Amino acid sequence: MEQLDSLGLVIKDELLRFLEKEFESSKLNLLPEKYKGGKIFSHPLIGVAQGNDPIFQKFKEVVGPEHLTPLEMWVGSGQDQLSASDLYVVSMVFPFTDKIRRESNNPIVLPRITLPAETYSVARNYGNVFKRDIMKQTINFLKEKGYNAVSGMSCDAYSVILKGKFYSTWSERYIAFAAGLGTFGLHEGLITEVGCNIRLASVVTNAPIKVSRRKSDEPYSNCLYYAKGTCKECAKKCPANAITEKGHNKTKCNKYRWKVARKMIPRLGSILKPDSRRINWKLKEDIFLVGCEFCQFGVQCTDKNPMVSDYLDFD
Ligand code: SF4
Ligand code: SF4
Repeated sequence: MEQLDSLGLVIKDELLRFLEKEFESSKLNLLPEKYKGGKIFSHPLIGVAQGNDPIFQKFKEVVGPEHLTPLEMWVGSGQDQLSASDLYVVSMVFPFTDKIRRESNNPIVLPRITLPAETYSVARNYGNVFKRDIMKQTINFLKEKGYNAVSGMSCDAYSVILKGKFYSTWSERYIAFAAGLGTFGLHEGLITEVGCNIRLASVVTNAPIKVSRRKSDEPYSNCLYYAKGTCKECAKKCPANAITEKGHNKTKCNKYRWKVARKMIPRLGSILKPDSRRINWKLKEDIFLVGCEFCQFGVQCTDKNPMVSDYLDFD
């Protein structure tokens, strides 16, 4: 057991160092010249959950019945059946750089709609390509070590589900929560130690990577509103009134996001890169993701866990 633990630590350290190098040197982690180049994401964080963690069953109740466990994702990606305890989920955090976060706090206010800063929309669009590349590279990194790995978003078992409820079969936010990387906010974003203005990705592997400890199983412990009844800054920032004391209204949010996309895609034109998604298990190509996320800029949890001082032990 001790031997497995130290092997798990070594793989985790090596993977983090590998990712740090990629974040530093990859050309895919750069904005286009028109937006002055510059990095999109600063540095990665990783967290690891074990495949048999009971929390994954709970996600079927909380996220939706078709949300997959790591074993279901593994088998759904064409891998052989094995014991859930032999699987590990590596969740990766991609924090936007301080520069992008600063510039994104100046939205474009038009008479009928408020749009995100162009820099942010382009960063989010380009960042997606980098994210997919990192998932692929992480899989290769683990394969070179003699293990196997699959990535949720890129496999056939991944789909966005639009059936009354709107969710996906593999929620990166919930996976990151399981891997101890943060907890949810009033805006339903994940508040990590480097804030909520992040992107997330994950891979499932049979490499015995050291599991991360969740500081709390309480899903909203990093949010000032849920912990202390204060803040609510994200609610004030949302132009769609999709955030209230009752929480985040996904329907209102998505409606506004579509409106943003309809304006932003022609505005940015051919500079955008296409992506694809399975929606109700049908592959939809040429999707241009441009984001929204006013609720994440210039708020107390943009770039940090605002509850961190409350956790400090002064004894
Ligand atoms: S802005 Fe404040 S209320 Fe909203 S999620 Fe962040 S900490 Fe919570
Ligand atoms: S993503 Fe946009 S519409 Fe949705 S809650 Fe945040 S600010 Fe509001």
